[in-house]
Amino acid sequence: MTSAVALDNVSRRFNGVAAVDRVSLDIADGEFFSLLGPSGSGKSTCLRLIAGFERPDTGTIRLHGRDTVDLPPYRRDVNTVFQDYALFPHLSLLDNVAYGLMVKGVGRSERMNRARAMLRLVELEDVHNRKPAHLSGGQRQRVALARALVNEPRVLLLDEPLGALDLKLREQMQGELKTLQRRLGITFIFVTHDQGEALSMSDRVAVFNRGRIEQVDNPRQLYLTPRSIFVANFVGSAN
Ligand code: ADP
Ligand code: MG
Repeated sequence: MTSAVALDNVSRRFNGVAAVDRVSLDIADGEFFSLLGPSGSGKSTCLRLIAGFERPDTGTIRLHGRDTVDLPPYRRDVNTVFQDYALFPHLSLLDNVAYGLMVKGVGRSERMNRARAMLRLVELEDVHNRKPAHLSGGQRQRVALARALVNEPRVLLLDEPLGALDLKLREQMQGELKTLQRRLGITFIFVTHDQGEALSMSDRVAVFNRGRIEQVDNPRQLYLTPRSIFVANFVGSAN
């Protein structure tokens, strides 16, 4: 398997407390991989370390075989979709999506073409002139996705991206995300505290507890052969 993201014994402390505690992970290229755990278990910190918004205190992070110690976030081939979408309210959908390309110095006509193609991919091309305020929650989520994908990252990090949606829409978006990931063939690292979501979408899941990984397995193995009481309770319960 080709490794997309490899963490080796990574720790990150805040005020003396380890948010991420000696975490090792090897995520394959093209994998749909979830970080699952309760609130405060270190999932978001782990994503921020991979994105380069945080630096590890100890341990190493490799992306596609390359050490990241001197690699700033914008050179990592990694993009992030946040739960609150962080769209620009004053820009149209098209300009929201194209924005990431402007920062990279792509010319205007190419920016517009690529942004349009991305909006088409998430089925929002018809409404490309609207502002974010005039969209539903699910549509905003799709714009955030399009914006994160427009500069063709090899790895997409998604931090509880469906958390703000109601149940019906969440289930629909789960299917859409999965389809999109298969079509693009890129690596998705998906953070959630919802075990049903993680189990239904992922190739493999890492279960986090207090900054540490309790178990990494495919959904079936996690469910059938939990290796700790914590995993059994967390994966087995409908919380
Ligand atoms: P999760 O995403 O699983 O809810 P986080 O990674 O956000 O967990 O947080 C893990 C722990 O690290 C929590 O106890 C949180 O309060 C702490 N933490 C995270 N980021 C910071 C920060 N920037 N400063 C201080 N503490 C932080
Ligand atoms: Mg979080």
